[in-house]
Amino acid sequence: MILKYPVNYIAITGYYKKGIHNGLDLGWSNSHGGMNQPIYAPADGVVVNVRSDYDRTDTSGGSYGNYIKIKHNDRISTLCAHMKYGSVNLKIGDQVKQGEQIGLMGATGHANGNHVHYEVFLDSTKVNPEEYTYVFPDQTVSTNPSASKGLLYYTPAPIPDPTPNPEPIQDEKDKTIEEQKKQIQEQEDKINLLNKEIISLKEQINEEEKYIFTYPVLKTSLYEIKLNEGETLLIKN
Ligand SMILES: [Zn+2]
Repeated sequence: MILKYPVNYIAITGYYKKGIHNGLDLGWSNSHGGMNQPIYAPADGVVVNVRSDYDRTDTSGGSYGNYIKIKHNDRISTLCAHMKYGSVNLKIGDQVKQGEQIGLMGATGHANGNHVHYEVFLDSTKVNPEEYTYVFPDQTVSTNPSASKGLLYYTPAPIPDPTPNPEPIQDEKDKTIEEQKKQIQEQEDKINLLNKEIISLKEQINEEEKYIFTYPVLKTSLYEIKLNEGETLLIKN
């Protein structure tokens, strides 16, 4: 499970200070979504706490305003606060996917202007989000050094080539088909040759069967031969 920053334009306007400010404040830029830029789920998880009916800013009381807390696994949860009134439509128990929009940046609750207050919980302790959250390649980071110090960058592993055994190109296909046709022709020629031999042998047998009897002449003389009707007389040397 890799936590991804909950906004696609990342500019830190308030750093984490243990016990004083237990989250990270992320601001906005007019060229990157402006004050209504979307807020996304940092990772897959389930909504465990939500408030969506807060319709105002009040600079006392430390209120989160509208917020969503998501449990990502047995140890890690995150919370995004001060979301715009009317932009939060999730409820407790809803499943979310990493990168799924969960609301819009706002200034509800205790906020001095539009931003998202982002917290990371490790075993129920609020830890420094910068140590647990990564900037993904599709996200933009502020060029202001004081708004981007301490950020971690995540580079996903490259996706393996989905075609390890590509289809042979057409030329090779044609070549293979030609080769197979040639082989078939050779086999057919052999069969034809064998058939001819069989026919020739059969003819020889038929020829021999024509001779009804053989009578070797041992002594030169004059013989009288009597034939029945339909019988053939062949004289051979
Ligand atoms: Zn804050």
